[in-house]
Amino acid sequence: MGLRSFLFDVRELLASHERLVFYVMLGLLIDVAYQAALPLSLKFLIDEAIVPADRALLLKIVLLMAVSLALASAAMIWRDHLYSRLSAAVLRGIRERLFAHLQGLSIGYFTSMRAGDLMARFSTDLAAVENLVVSALPIVFCAALSLVVLSFALFALNAQMSLAVALLAPLCWIGPRWLLPRAAAMSLEARRRDADVLSLVQENLEGQAAVKALGLEAYSLCRVQQRLSIAEAAAQRFNFASYLTERLPNIGMLALHVVILLWGAHLAFDQRISVGTLVAFNGVLLSLSAAVSELTSSAHTLLGAAAGLRRIREVLEQAPSVVDPADGRTLTRFSEMIRFDDVSFAYRDTPILNNLRLEISTGESVAFVGRSGSGKSTALNLIARFHDVSSGRLLIDGDDVRNYTQHSLRARMGIVQQDAMLFEGSLRDNIRLGRLDATDAEVEEAARLAEADAFIQALSKGYDTHLGAGGTRLSGGQRQRISIARALLRRPDILLLDEATSALDPATERAINATLESLRMRYTTIRVTHRLEEAATCNRIYVLEAGRLAEQGSHDQLLAAQGLYAKLWRKQQGLSLSDNLEHAAVTAAWLAEWPLFEGADLVLLDEVSRQFVTERAAPGSEIIRQGSPGDRFYILVRGMVSVSRARAGEEIEIAKLREGDAFGEAALLSDAPRNASVRALTDCVLLSLERSRFRRWADRDPAWRGRLEELAER
Ligand code: ADP
Ligand code: MG
Repeated sequence: MGLRSFLFDVRELLASHERLVFYVMLGLLIDVAYQAALPLSLKFLIDEAIVPADRALLLKIVLLMAVSLALASAAMIWRDHLYSRLSAAVLRGIRERLFAHLQGLSIGYFTSMRAGDLMARFSTDLAAVENLVVSALPIVFCAALSLVVLSFALFALNAQMSLAVALLAPLCWIGPRWLLPRAAAMSLEARRRDADVLSLVQENLEGQAAVKALGLEAYSLCRVQQRLSIAEAAAQRFNFASYLTERLPNIGMLALHVVILLWGAHLAFDQRISVGTLVAFNGVLLSLSAAVSELTSSAHTLLGAAAGLRRIREVLEQAPSVVDPADGRTLTRFSEMIRFDDVSFAYRDTPILNNLRLEISTGESVAFVGRSGSGKSTALNLIARFHDVSSGRLLIDGDDVRNYTQHSLRARMGIVQQDAMLFEGSLRDNIRLGRLDATDAEVEEAARLAEADAFIQALSKGYDTHLGAGGTRLSGGQRQRISIARALLRRPDILLLDEATSALDPATERAINATLESLRMRYTTIRVTHRLEEAATCNRIYVLEAGRLAEQGSHDQLLAAQGLYAKLWRKQQGLSLSDNLEHAAVTAAWLAEWPLFEGADLVLLDEVSRQFVTERAAPGSEIIRQGSPGDRFYILVRGMVSVSRARAGEEIEIAKLREGDAFGEAALLSDAPRNASVRALTDCVLLSLERSRFRRWADRDPAWRGRLEELAER
């Protein structure tokens, strides 16, 4: 981080305000000239007026001093006014540039950066730059200018003594020269450690529900304390280095001053210089020391700002990974087909999708299904060109997606993402984000189609209900419906739905699916769904398995093929749920697919299936705690849970489970402590089976009991 690049940064900051900078500099020049002239006038006052007792000249000099004071003061106030405009404009400029640049970056950048780190660049790093612009820059300019002007004044007074000053002064620079690069590195380190703390704080604030549910308050504090200690140590090292950078030259200047003064006194004593010269020389030297100390006292701010600027520059220099071609085509209407032509995709070096070949024609409704993590969302994101393929081609209407402008591409798409994002503003505003020029009637029509109208009307302020940032006042299902309304309002050609109805109750979900079915002619619908009943209504289903296309075909074809899809279908069909979410049930056939129940008599299994109890779990609540004795087996009928294990003081997620998954089966064998924690991520409906109830039935079949004992031993 050289001085040159820092000066370049500063010059660039000021570049678009040339006129203001010019006037401010002019004001500074007047200020500095006045301050240099003041001690010089002392010489005339003493040597020409006071010593020769010339009263007329004395009066003239004093009058001149008063007039120049008035003029200089006016110039200073004028400069302050201009400077306050300049500094505010510069800051606004970088904030705007930073934000505009972030808007242009691709999704990949945001998923790889910690949000807290980016926020730190916006807040603390910018504050460091603000300090520079608002307080340090004028001081530094003023002091540097003073140094030059005062040096001339010094030489004008006495060349011999000035030469001595000029020879000795560079000694004061030795310390800072050695220290500066080290302090600069420490400053950057301190800023980075600050950002580490901020990202942890941000994550904690966003995850307060989970923190409370898991009782992680003390644990979180402990983690923050660790990072704070690291940040504290880094700040302390930087502070001391920067204060030392400031202190050493000041001590040098003091020593220099004393030496020169002694020598000057000696010269004046021998009458080789006048007393006026000695007094004036001392005055100029005092101003010079003051300028040096002002310059060095800004070292701390300058170093902090240099690190802040560098971190801001890192963002500004980041190029988007997905870019529009120079003469990008506009997709005005999707009219033929989307084709994955041997598409592969990897996040950095981790392959996610491998050699996908598939086609989706206009008017079709298509579903991607498969286990979590199989790459369904990624495939959808490629169609919207959130990422570029790593190899192969993705064609829309025969042309590579990379040839279209991103804006025109996405304007033809209505995208409902897995986590429906709502923004600060009213419900009406939130739906209107789909198409900013939509009328109120169109907004309400879209809400009706998305089954959102009824619940919005039931709110006391209806469509004008205000949502806070993130829209956290709505339930997951309500947020999803707003998000669907927003996508429909766009009047897209292609609807991309990523688990868009996962948080809805069965009745609302059926209603939305019926609506989408009736609108089939208008849209090409591509959905990722975990619920196979929804997939079953689609023309074609693509089954992904670990990033590969495992099977494809209609629902009936896939069932007949007896492959992965058929297995998943059986797994889901065995589970049912009442519309009010209060009663869930599982069939004996479903249970029979599990190793635990394998080979058991079906009549007995039917009895076992009736021993299950329906439970609910709110988002964030803990279903199983690691280490506590297990007494129940769970089947997840609705919602999503996260399985995590504590290792070395950190909670590490090992899996996400979805509807149709089951967990905790070891508890049916023994009361050994749970080896992982399970936490609800959404509203969940579960079926649970207690060990004692299970054993009552299982023990009736000697063969089964034998198998269970064998399993327990393992
Ligand atoms: P699905 O939607 O089928 O559950 P995804 O398409 O979301 O699966 O993810 C596929 C795989 O890509 C998963 O293994 C996931 O861990 C990985 N993945 C998703 N997003 C990222 C990311 N930003 N960086 C690295 N890996 C990711
Ligand atoms: Mg997904």
